[in-house]
Amino acid sequence: MLHEKLSSIYDNVLHRNPGEIEFHQAVREVLESIGPVLAKHPEYADSKIIERICEPERQIIFRVPWEDDRGEVHINRGFRVEFNSALGPYKGGLRFHPSVYLGIVKFLGFEQIFKNSLTGLPIGGGKGGSDFDPKGRSQREVMRFCQSFMTELYRHIGEYTDVPAGDIGVGGREVGYLFGQYKRITNRYESGVITGKGLSYGGAQVRTEATGYGCAFFVDEMLKARGTSFDGKRVVVSGSGNVALYTIEKIQQLGGVVVACSDSSGYVVDDAGIDLDLLKQVKDVERLRVDAYAKRRGGEASFVPGRSVWEVPCEVAMPSATQNEITGRDAETLVRGGCVAVGEGANMPTMPEGIRIFQEAGVAFGPGKAANAGGVATSALEMQQNASRDSWSFEFSERRLQEIMRDIHARCLATADEYGMPGDYVAGANIDGFRRVADAMLALGLI
Ligand code: GLU
Repeated sequence: MLHEKLSSIYDNVLHRNPGEIEFHQAVREVLESIGPVLAKHPEYADSKIIERICEPERQIIFRVPWEDDRGEVHINRGFRVEFNSALGPYKGGLRFHPSVYLGIVKFLGFEQIFKNSLTGLPIGGGKGGSDFDPKGRSQREVMRFCQSFMTELYRHIGEYTDVPAGDIGVGGREVGYLFGQYKRITNRYESGVITGKGLSYGGAQVRTEATGYGCAFFVDEMLKARGTSFDGKRVVVSGSGNVALYTIEKIQQLGGVVVACSDSSGYVVDDAGIDLDLLKQVKDVERLRVDAYAKRRGGEASFVPGRSVWEVPCEVAMPSATQNEITGRDAETLVRGGCVAVGEGANMPTMPEGIRIFQEAGVAFGPGKAANAGGVATSALEMQQNASRDSWSFEFSERRLQEIMRDIHARCLATADEYGMPGDYVAGANIDGFRRVADAMLALGLI
Protein backbone atom coordinates (compact mmCIF):
# COMPACT_ATOMS: atom_id res chain seq x y z
CA MET A 1 0.00 0.00 0.00
CA LEU A 2 1.21 3.48 -0.84
CA HIS A 3 1.14 6.18 1.81
CA GLU A 4 -0.85 9.26 0.76
CA LYS A 5 1.98 11.55 -0.32
CA LEU A 6 3.68 8.74 -2.23
CA SER A 7 0.44 7.80 -3.89
CA SER A 8 0.10 11.28 -5.39
CA ILE A 9 3.73 11.12 -6.57
CA TYR A 10 2.95 7.77 -8.19
CA ASP A 11 -0.17 9.16 -9.89
CA ASN A 12 1.95 11.93 -11.28
CA VAL A 13 4.49 9.41 -12.65
CA LEU A 14 1.62 7.54 -14.36
CA HIS A 15 0.31 10.76 -15.83
CA ARG A 16 3.69 11.99 -17.08
CA ASN A 17 4.81 8.66 -18.55
CA PRO A 18 1.72 7.19 -20.23
CA GLY A 19 1.85 3.56 -21.32
CA GLU A 20 5.28 2.86 -19.82
CA ILE A 21 4.04 -0.04 -17.69
CA GLU A 22 7.41 -1.53 -16.77
CA PHE A 23 8.59 1.87 -15.56
CA HIS A 24 5.42 2.32 -13.50
CA GLN A 25 5.95 -1.11 -11.93
CA ALA A 26 9.57 -0.35 -10.99
CA VAL A 27 8.66 3.04 -9.49
CA ARG A 28 5.75 1.61 -7.52
CA GLU A 29 7.90 -1.08 -5.94
CA VAL A 30 10.40 1.49 -4.67
CA LEU A 31 7.70 3.90 -3.47
CA GLU A 32 6.02 1.07 -1.54
CA SER A 33 9.23 0.61 0.46
CA ILE A 34 10.22 4.15 1.32
CA GLY A 35 7.22 5.48 3.29
CA PRO A 36 8.97 4.86 6.64
CA VAL A 37 12.09 6.68 5.41
CA LEU A 38 10.08 9.82 4.66
CA ALA A 39 8.54 9.71 8.11
CA LYS A 40 12.06 9.75 9.57
CA HIS A 41 13.53 12.29 7.12
CA PRO A 42 11.11 15.14 6.32
CA GLU A 43 13.97 16.92 4.52
CA TYR A 44 13.67 14.43 1.63
CA ALA A 45 10.04 15.37 1.07
CA ASP A 46 10.69 19.10 1.58
CA SER A 47 13.16 19.18 -1.27
CA LYS A 48 11.09 16.86 -3.49
CA ILE A 49 13.86 14.27 -3.74
CA ILE A 50 11.47 11.50 -4.85
CA GLU A 51 9.81 13.58 -7.55
CA ARG A 52 13.28 14.48 -8.83
CA ILE A 53 14.51 10.85 -8.73
CA CYS A 54 11.51 9.73 -10.80
CA GLU A 55 12.31 12.22 -13.58
CA PRO A 56 15.40 11.28 -15.65
CA GLU A 57 18.06 13.97 -15.88
CA ARG A 58 18.20 13.46 -19.65
CA GLN A 59 16.55 11.16 -22.24
CA ILE A 60 18.09 10.67 -25.65
CA ILE A 61 16.27 8.97 -28.54
CA PHE A 62 17.95 8.62 -31.91
CA ARG A 63 17.75 7.04 -35.35
CA VAL A 64 20.03 4.11 -36.15
CA PRO A 65 20.19 3.42 -39.90
CA TRP A 66 22.16 0.40 -41.12
CA GLU A 67 22.45 -1.89 -44.13
CA ASP A 68 22.04 -5.67 -44.03
CA ASP A 69 24.17 -8.16 -46.00
CA ARG A 70 21.79 -7.97 -48.98
CA GLY A 71 22.08 -4.21 -49.17
CA GLU A 72 18.65 -3.52 -47.70
CA VAL A 73 18.43 -0.47 -45.44
CA HIS A 74 16.95 -0.79 -41.92
CA ILE A 75 16.04 1.91 -39.43
CA ASN A 76 16.06 1.15 -35.71
CA ARG A 77 15.55 3.36 -32.70
CA GLY A 78 18.33 3.97 -30.17
CA PHE A 79 17.89 5.12 -26.56
CA ARG A 80 20.02 6.34 -23.71
CA VAL A 81 18.31 7.45 -20.53
CA GLU A 82 20.71 9.32 -18.23
CA PHE A 83 18.71 8.94 -15.06
CA ASN A 84 20.73 10.12 -12.09
CA SER A 85 24.30 11.30 -11.66
CA ALA A 86 24.33 12.24 -7.97
CA LEU A 87 26.75 9.44 -7.09
CA GLY A 88 28.92 9.35 -10.19
CA PRO A 89 28.79 9.16 -14.00
CA TYR A 90 25.63 7.52 -15.36
CA LYS A 91 26.29 3.77 -15.43
CA GLY A 92 24.27 0.96 -16.92
CA GLY A 93 24.08 -1.40 -19.84
CA LEU A 94 22.69 -1.35 -23.36
CA ARG A 95 19.96 -3.81 -24.33
CA PHE A 96 19.40 -4.85 -27.95
CA HIS A 97 16.05 -6.63 -28.18
CA PRO A 98 12.90 -6.10 -30.27
CA SER A 99 10.89 -5.41 -27.08
CA VAL A 100 12.97 -2.32 -26.24
CA TYR A 101 11.08 0.98 -26.06
CA LEU A 102 11.35 4.00 -23.80
CA GLY A 103 9.36 2.36 -20.95
CA ILE A 104 11.75 -0.60 -20.75
CA VAL A 105 14.84 1.61 -20.84
CA LYS A 106 13.35 3.83 -18.12
CA PHE A 107 12.49 0.91 -15.84
CA LEU A 108 16.01 -0.45 -16.23
CA GLY A 109 17.59 2.97 -15.71
CA PHE A 110 15.47 3.59 -12.62
CA GLU A 111 16.46 0.22 -11.11
CA GLN A 112 20.06 0.97 -11.92
CA ILE A 113 20.07 4.12 -9.72
CA PHE A 114 19.36 2.11 -6.56
CA LYS A 115 21.38 -0.94 -7.57
CA ASN A 116 24.45 1.15 -8.27
CA SER A 117 23.98 3.03 -5.03
CA LEU A 118 23.79 -0.27 -3.13
CA THR A 119 27.20 -1.33 -4.44
CA GLY A 120 28.71 1.53 -2.42
CA LEU A 121 30.79 2.50 -5.48
CA PRO A 122 30.76 5.94 -7.17
CA ILE A 123 28.37 5.28 -10.06
CA GLY A 124 25.14 6.99 -11.07
CA GLY A 125 22.29 5.29 -12.95
CA GLY A 126 21.48 5.07 -16.65
CA LYS A 127 20.47 2.59 -19.32
CA GLY A 128 20.16 2.41 -23.06
CA GLY A 129 19.57 0.15 -25.99
CA SER A 130 17.69 -0.40 -29.19
CA ASP A 131 14.78 -2.34 -30.65
CA PHE A 132 17.32 -3.99 -32.99
CA ASP A 133 16.92 -7.80 -33.03
CA PRO A 134 20.35 -9.47 -33.20
CA LYS A 135 18.76 -12.92 -33.62
CA GLY A 136 19.74 -14.44 -36.97
CA ARG A 137 21.96 -11.49 -37.92
CA SER A 138 25.44 -12.14 -39.30
CA GLN A 139 28.54 -10.91 -37.52
CA ARG A 140 29.03 -8.20 -40.14
CA GLU A 141 25.44 -6.99 -39.74
CA VAL A 142 25.88 -6.80 -35.97
CA MET A 143 29.11 -4.86 -36.45
CA ARG A 144 27.51 -2.38 -38.85
CA PHE A 145 24.61 -1.88 -36.47
CA CYS A 146 26.94 -1.27 -33.49
CA GLN A 147 28.99 1.21 -35.53
CA SER A 148 25.90 3.15 -36.56
CA PHE A 149 24.55 3.10 -32.99
CA MET A 150 27.82 4.51 -31.62
CA THR A 151 28.06 7.12 -34.37
CA GLU A 152 25.23 8.90 -32.57
CA LEU A 153 25.81 7.74 -28.98
CA TYR A 154 29.46 8.81 -28.77
CA ARG A 155 28.62 12.51 -28.32
CA HIS A 156 26.61 11.76 -25.17
CA ILE A 157 29.00 9.45 -23.30
CA GLY A 158 32.49 9.61 -21.76
CA GLU A 159 34.57 8.31 -18.89
CA TYR A 160 33.32 11.15 -16.62
CA THR A 161 29.84 11.46 -18.12
CA ASP A 162 28.13 8.21 -18.97
CA VAL A 163 29.60 4.71 -19.13
CA PRO A 164 27.55 2.05 -20.95
CA ALA A 165 28.09 -1.74 -20.81
CA GLY A 166 26.22 -4.83 -21.98
CA ASP A 167 22.79 -6.24 -21.15
CA ILE A 168 20.50 -8.61 -23.09
CA GLY A 169 21.76 -8.86 -26.71
CA VAL A 170 24.96 -6.96 -25.97
CA GLY A 171 27.95 -9.12 -24.96
CA GLY A 172 31.70 -8.94 -25.38
CA ARG A 173 31.52 -8.95 -29.19
CA GLU A 174 29.15 -5.96 -29.35
CA VAL A 175 31.07 -4.04 -26.67
CA GLY A 176 34.20 -4.50 -28.81
CA TYR A 177 32.52 -3.06 -31.93
CA LEU A 178 31.03 -0.18 -29.92
CA PHE A 179 34.35 0.69 -28.28
CA GLY A 180 36.19 0.42 -31.61
CA GLN A 181 33.84 2.93 -33.21
CA TYR A 182 34.06 5.31 -30.23
CA LYS A 183 37.85 5.18 -30.40
CA ARG A 184 37.82 5.80 -34.13
CA ILE A 185 35.44 8.77 -34.04
CA THR A 186 37.05 10.51 -31.05
CA ASN A 187 40.67 9.52 -31.71
CA ARG A 188 40.98 8.82 -27.98
CA TYR A 189 41.84 5.54 -26.28
CA GLU A 190 39.40 6.26 -23.49
CA SER A 191 39.13 2.78 -21.97
CA GLY A 192 36.82 3.87 -19.16
CA VAL A 193 34.05 4.95 -21.56
CA ILE A 194 32.49 1.47 -21.70
CA THR A 195 32.79 -1.66 -19.58
CA GLY A 196 32.61 -5.35 -20.36
CA LYS A 197 35.56 -4.97 -22.73
CA GLY A 198 37.68 -7.95 -23.82
CA LEU A 199 40.73 -8.79 -21.73
CA SER A 200 43.10 -7.88 -24.58
CA TYR A 201 41.96 -4.23 -24.73
CA GLY A 202 41.24 -2.95 -21.23
CA GLY A 203 38.64 -5.39 -19.95
CA ALA A 204 38.63 -6.66 -16.38
CA GLN A 205 38.97 -10.19 -15.03
CA VAL A 206 35.68 -11.62 -13.71
CA ARG A 207 33.49 -9.01 -15.49
CA THR A 208 32.04 -11.71 -17.78
CA GLU A 209 31.27 -13.96 -14.83
CA ALA A 210 30.34 -11.20 -12.36
CA THR A 211 26.55 -10.97 -12.54
CA GLY A 212 26.06 -14.73 -12.26
CA TYR A 213 28.80 -15.30 -9.69
CA GLY A 214 27.58 -12.33 -7.67
CA CYS A 215 24.01 -13.62 -7.68
CA ALA A 216 25.14 -17.06 -6.47
CA PHE A 217 27.22 -15.38 -3.72
CA PHE A 218 24.21 -13.32 -2.66
CA VAL A 219 21.93 -16.36 -2.41
CA ASP A 220 24.69 -18.24 -0.59
CA GLU A 221 24.63 -15.43 2.01
CA MET A 222 20.83 -15.59 2.28
CA LEU A 223 21.01 -19.35 2.80
CA LYS A 224 23.78 -19.00 5.40
CA ALA A 225 21.72 -16.38 7.26
CA ARG A 226 19.09 -19.12 7.60
CA GLY A 227 21.59 -21.71 8.73
CA THR A 228 21.75 -23.65 5.46
CA SER A 229 23.76 -23.68 2.20
CA PHE A 230 23.69 -24.60 -1.51
CA ASP A 231 25.16 -27.99 -0.72
CA GLY A 232 23.04 -30.68 -2.39
CA LYS A 233 20.17 -28.28 -3.15
CA ARG A 234 18.10 -28.64 -6.32
CA VAL A 235 18.30 -25.38 -8.25
CA VAL A 236 16.46 -24.10 -11.32
CA VAL A 237 18.00 -21.27 -13.34
CA SER A 238 15.93 -19.61 -16.06
CA GLY A 239 17.66 -18.35 -19.19
CA SER A 240 20.91 -19.59 -20.68
CA GLY A 241 22.66 -16.34 -21.52
CA ASN A 242 25.62 -14.74 -19.79
CA VAL A 243 23.94 -14.33 -16.38
CA ALA A 244 22.50 -17.86 -16.33
CA LEU A 245 25.71 -19.58 -17.47
CA TYR A 246 27.86 -18.09 -14.72
CA THR A 247 25.15 -18.46 -12.09
CA ILE A 248 25.16 -22.18 -12.90
CA GLU A 249 28.97 -22.31 -12.78
CA LYS A 250 29.22 -20.76 -9.31
CA ILE A 251 26.30 -22.73 -7.86
CA GLN A 252 27.95 -25.95 -9.01
CA GLN A 253 31.20 -24.84 -7.33
CA LEU A 254 29.21 -24.15 -4.16
CA GLY A 255 27.75 -27.67 -4.21
CA GLY A 256 24.28 -27.01 -5.65
CA VAL A 257 22.71 -29.19 -8.37
CA VAL A 258 21.26 -27.14 -11.22
CA VAL A 259 18.61 -29.35 -12.81
CA ALA A 260 17.04 -27.03 -15.40
CA CYS A 261 17.59 -23.94 -17.53
CA SER A 262 15.75 -22.39 -20.46
CA ASP A 263 15.56 -19.98 -23.38
CA SER A 264 12.68 -18.42 -25.29
CA SER A 265 11.97 -21.76 -27.03
CA GLY A 266 11.39 -23.80 -23.84
CA TYR A 267 13.40 -25.51 -21.13
CA VAL A 268 15.66 -28.49 -20.52
CA VAL A 269 15.67 -30.73 -17.46
CA ASP A 270 18.75 -32.69 -16.59
CA ASP A 271 18.29 -34.40 -13.23
CA ALA A 272 21.93 -35.42 -12.95
CA GLY A 273 22.84 -31.72 -13.11
CA ILE A 274 23.42 -29.50 -16.16
CA ASP A 275 26.64 -30.30 -18.07
CA LEU A 276 27.96 -26.75 -18.15
CA ASP A 277 30.68 -27.28 -20.77
CA LEU A 278 28.09 -28.64 -23.17
CA LEU A 279 25.64 -25.83 -22.39
CA LYS A 280 28.34 -23.20 -23.02
CA GLN A 281 29.27 -24.90 -26.29
CA VAL A 282 25.65 -24.95 -27.49
CA LYS A 283 24.58 -21.48 -26.32
CA ASP A 284 27.73 -19.38 -26.23
CA VAL A 285 29.86 -20.83 -29.02
CA GLU A 286 27.33 -22.22 -31.52
CA ARG A 287 24.48 -19.82 -30.55
CA LEU A 288 21.85 -22.61 -30.81
CA ARG A 289 18.63 -23.20 -28.85
CA VAL A 290 18.53 -25.32 -25.68
CA ASP A 291 16.91 -28.26 -27.47
CA ALA A 292 20.36 -28.88 -29.02
CA TYR A 293 21.67 -29.41 -25.48
CA ALA A 294 19.02 -32.06 -24.79
CA LYS A 295 19.73 -33.83 -28.11
CA ARG A 296 23.45 -34.04 -27.37
CA ARG A 297 22.85 -35.36 -23.86
CA GLY A 298 20.92 -38.27 -25.38
CA GLY A 299 18.55 -39.88 -22.87
CA GLU A 300 20.03 -37.95 -19.89
CA ALA A 301 18.12 -34.70 -20.45
CA SER A 302 14.75 -33.76 -21.90
CA PHE A 303 13.57 -30.66 -23.73
CA VAL A 304 10.10 -29.24 -23.01
CA PRO A 305 9.07 -26.75 -25.71
CA GLY A 306 7.07 -23.59 -25.05
CA ARG A 307 6.47 -24.02 -21.31
CA SER A 308 7.66 -22.16 -18.24
CA VAL A 309 10.72 -23.56 -16.49
CA TRP A 310 9.08 -22.66 -13.15
CA GLU A 311 6.99 -25.83 -13.28
CA VAL A 312 10.18 -27.77 -12.42
CA PRO A 313 10.24 -28.27 -8.62
CA CYS A 314 13.32 -26.90 -6.86
CA GLU A 315 14.61 -25.59 -3.54
CA VAL A 316 16.28 -22.51 -5.03
CA ALA A 317 15.03 -20.50 -8.02
CA MET A 318 17.35 -18.15 -9.90
CA PRO A 319 15.36 -16.18 -12.53
CA SER A 320 18.08 -15.01 -14.92
CA ALA A 321 16.27 -14.37 -18.20
CA THR A 322 14.19 -11.19 -18.34
CA GLN A 323 11.56 -9.00 -16.65
CA ASN A 324 8.20 -10.34 -15.43
CA GLU A 325 9.00 -14.00 -16.06
CA ILE A 326 7.67 -15.25 -12.68
CA THR A 327 3.93 -14.69 -12.39
CA GLY A 328 1.88 -15.04 -9.19
CA ARG A 329 0.89 -18.51 -10.32
CA ASP A 330 4.52 -19.51 -10.97
CA ALA A 331 5.40 -18.29 -7.47
CA GLU A 332 2.62 -20.45 -5.98
CA THR A 333 3.88 -23.47 -7.91
CA LEU A 334 7.44 -22.84 -6.72
CA VAL A 335 6.38 -22.47 -3.07
CA ARG A 336 4.32 -25.67 -3.30
CA GLY A 337 7.33 -27.45 -4.81
CA GLY A 338 9.49 -26.63 -1.77
CA CYS A 339 11.30 -23.48 -2.90
CA VAL A 340 13.08 -21.77 0.03
CA ALA A 341 15.12 -19.06 -1.73
CA VAL A 342 14.91 -16.90 -4.86
CA GLY A 343 17.79 -14.83 -6.28
CA GLU A 344 16.96 -12.46 -9.13
CA GLY A 345 19.77 -12.54 -11.69
CA ALA A 346 17.61 -10.66 -14.20
CA ASN A 347 16.13 -7.21 -13.62
CA MET A 348 12.59 -7.32 -12.17
CA PRO A 349 11.91 -10.93 -13.22
CA THR A 350 9.27 -11.45 -10.52
CA MET A 351 5.88 -9.78 -10.89
CA PRO A 352 4.59 -7.86 -7.83
CA GLU A 353 2.08 -10.63 -7.03
CA GLY A 354 4.89 -13.19 -7.14
CA ILE A 355 7.03 -11.17 -4.71
CA ARG A 356 4.10 -10.97 -2.30
CA ILE A 357 3.52 -14.73 -2.48
CA PHE A 358 7.20 -15.53 -1.86
CA GLN A 359 7.45 -13.16 1.06
CA GLU A 360 4.23 -14.35 2.70
CA ALA A 361 5.45 -17.94 2.38
CA GLY A 362 8.69 -17.02 4.17
CA VAL A 363 10.89 -17.63 1.10
CA ALA A 364 14.22 -15.74 1.24
CA PHE A 365 13.70 -13.35 -1.67
CA GLY A 366 16.75 -11.50 -3.07
CA PRO A 367 15.58 -8.71 -5.41
CA GLY A 368 17.59 -7.97 -8.56
CA LYS A 369 18.78 -4.59 -7.31
CA ALA A 370 20.75 -6.39 -4.64
CA ALA A 371 21.25 -9.92 -5.98
CA ASN A 372 22.45 -8.99 -9.48
CA ALA A 373 24.48 -5.92 -8.50
CA GLY A 374 27.73 -7.89 -8.91
CA GLY A 375 27.75 -7.17 -12.65
CA VAL A 376 27.70 -3.43 -12.41
CA ALA A 377 29.94 -3.49 -9.31
CA THR A 378 32.59 -5.31 -11.33
CA SER A 379 32.08 -2.75 -14.11
CA ALA A 380 32.98 -0.10 -11.53
CA LEU A 381 36.10 -2.15 -10.73
CA GLU A 382 36.87 -2.19 -14.46
CA MET A 383 36.58 1.63 -14.50
CA GLN A 384 38.91 1.74 -11.50
CA GLN A 385 41.50 -0.40 -13.29
CA ASN A 386 41.18 1.67 -16.48
CA ALA A 387 41.65 4.93 -14.58
CA SER A 388 44.81 3.66 -12.92
CA ARG A 389 46.01 1.82 -16.06
CA ASP A 390 46.20 -1.34 -14.01
CA SER A 391 44.84 -4.86 -14.28
CA TRP A 392 44.05 -7.10 -11.37
CA SER A 393 44.26 -10.90 -11.12
CA PHE A 394 41.22 -13.16 -11.39
CA GLU A 395 41.57 -14.26 -7.75
CA PHE A 396 41.80 -10.72 -6.40
CA SER A 397 38.86 -9.52 -8.54
CA GLU A 398 36.67 -12.43 -7.48
CA ARG A 399 37.51 -11.78 -3.83
CA ARG A 400 36.50 -8.11 -4.26
CA LEU A 401 33.22 -9.20 -5.89
CA GLN A 402 32.47 -11.59 -3.05
CA GLU A 403 33.19 -8.89 -0.43
CA ILE A 404 30.89 -6.47 -2.25
CA MET A 405 28.05 -9.03 -2.38
CA ARG A 406 28.48 -9.88 1.31
CA ASP A 407 28.42 -6.22 2.16
CA ILE A 408 25.24 -5.58 0.12
CA HIS A 409 23.58 -8.57 1.77
CA ALA A 410 24.54 -7.40 5.26
CA ARG A 411 23.35 -3.84 4.59
CA CYS A 412 20.00 -5.01 3.21
CA LEU A 413 19.42 -7.08 6.35
CA ALA A 414 20.58 -4.35 8.73
CA THR A 415 18.39 -1.73 7.02
CA ALA A 416 15.36 -4.03 7.02
CA ASP A 417 15.94 -4.59 10.76
CA GLU A 418 16.34 -0.88 11.40
CA TYR A 419 12.93 -0.25 9.83
CA GLY A 420 11.23 -3.12 11.65
CA MET A 421 10.95 -5.47 8.65
CA PRO A 422 13.42 -8.25 9.50
CA GLY A 423 14.42 -10.48 6.58
CA ASP A 424 12.72 -8.23 3.98
CA TYR A 425 15.47 -7.82 1.37
CA VAL A 426 13.18 -5.81 -0.93
CA ALA A 427 12.64 -3.11 1.68
CA GLY A 428 16.28 -3.28 2.77
CA ALA A 429 17.59 -2.84 -0.79
CA ASN A 430 15.16 -0.08 -1.75
CA ILE A 431 15.67 1.91 1.46
CA ASP A 432 19.44 1.57 1.61
CA GLY A 433 19.86 2.33 -2.12
CA PHE A 434 17.50 5.29 -1.88
CA ARG A 435 19.09 6.88 1.20
CA ARG A 436 22.55 7.16 -0.31
CA VAL A 437 21.27 8.82 -3.50
CA ALA A 438 18.92 11.10 -1.55
CA ASP A 439 21.70 12.27 0.77
CA ALA A 440 23.99 13.03 -2.17
CA MET A 441 21.20 14.95 -3.93
CA LEU A 442 20.55 17.01 -0.80
CA ALA A 443 24.25 17.80 -0.48
CA LEU A 444 24.55 18.87 -4.11
CA GLY A 445 21.84 21.52 -3.96
CA LEU A 446 18.76 21.76 -6.17
CA ILE A 447 19.91 19.73 -9.18
N1 GLU B 1 23.32 -4.65 -17.51
C1 GLU B 1 23.89 -4.93 -16.22
C2 GLU B 1 22.89 -4.57 -15.12
O1 GLU B 1 21.73 -4.72 -15.32
C3 GLU B 1 25.29 -4.35 -16.05
C4 GLU B 1 25.43 -2.87 -16.22
C5 GLU B 1 26.88 -2.38 -16.21
O2 GLU B 1 27.78 -3.16 -16.02
O3 GLU B 1 27.01 -1.17 -16.36
O4 GLU B 1 23.23 -4.21 -14.03
